Amino acid sequence: MTKVQTIRGPIEVDDLGFTLSHEHLTVGGAAMDRIPSIYNEDEAYALNLQAIALAKAAGVRSIIDLTTMDLGRQVRLLQRVADANTGVNIVCATGVYRWVPAYFLLRDPDEIAEFMLGEINDGIEGTDIRAGIIKLAWDLEYRMDEGPYSPRAALERCARGAARAAKAAGVPISCHTLAADELGTPLLDIFEDEGLDLAAVTIGHSNDSTDLGYLTRIAGRGANLGFDRYGGVRPAEENERRAALASALVAAGYGDQVSLGHDGSPYQRFGMNRPTILDCWTYVPNHEVPWLRANGLSDEQIAGMTQRSVRRTFEAAAAMRRA
Ligand SMILES: [Zn+2]
Repeated sequence: MTKVQTIRGPIEVDDLGFTLSHEHLTVGGAAMDRIPSIYNEDEAYALNLQAIALAKAAGVRSIIDLTTMDLGRQVRLLQRVADANTGVNIVCATGVYRWVPAYFLLRDPDEIAEFMLGEINDGIEGTDIRAGIIKLAWDLEYRMDEGPYSPRAALERCARGAARAAKAAGVPISCHTLAADELGTPLLDIFEDEGLDLAAVTIGHSNDSTDLGYLTRIAGRGANLGFDRYGGVRPAEENERRAALASALVAAGYGDQVSLGHDGSPYQRFGMNRPTILDCWTYVPNHEVPWLRANGLSDEQIAGMTQRSVRRTFEAAAAMRRA
């Protein structure tokens, strides 16, 4: 049986249950915890416990937290949430966000992989908390391609490092992508070149796209699609477009390769201190799933998106390590 590492230790993959595939306990940037006007740990802790309780009441059993160190991951907070024993599994991430830190800018992929493997196998920042998944982020910076110091060259080295760490440790990779630029395609090309099973890869923020052709090409290569931007911050008609897109993927035979989430956080410090949204993790269970059911999807089909799709990425990743 495949194990998944959570902040409270390993669980069986079958115990993930209803899983939100792309969320953030905290989100901001590296060292935000050193700026008192931006980060307050007690506040972050209290808000997270409330948001997790609301998600749990809505039926959520597991949350994938895709906050890397350079995106404002707070390991002490993760420790406190683990100790609180909320009843919701939380998988935390290693990896690199879209603005590759200067200390990684010219590292070769194996050095980057070594950093990720340390957080997966030994623990994060001297704690017993181990990362269960690798996060990458490719966005606008990918367009900047001039020489070895360019963002694009650094992003590509990070992707190769992530692929090598994923194979060695048997953990999946989940990617923030700029869907408008179809960045899932060059990412999968690199992962394929590194010999990764693409079933262990989630191409996230894919429901920002309106192009069913692009999405079925990604799914057709075996990868998982992150439909991870739903929520009350969007107009109802936009959420409905996103729900219809998920239905279309089910109709195309890829329902078990679509994962749902919000890209939400109760402690949002990205760009600015945003108003707290405590129900940042309830739109999918409370609105998205009922919409899908009302529009003809069976509970079995919906479980493909809320349960089996994420499980499939962990199983494919673990199989690579065993191979
Ligand atoms: Zn995110």
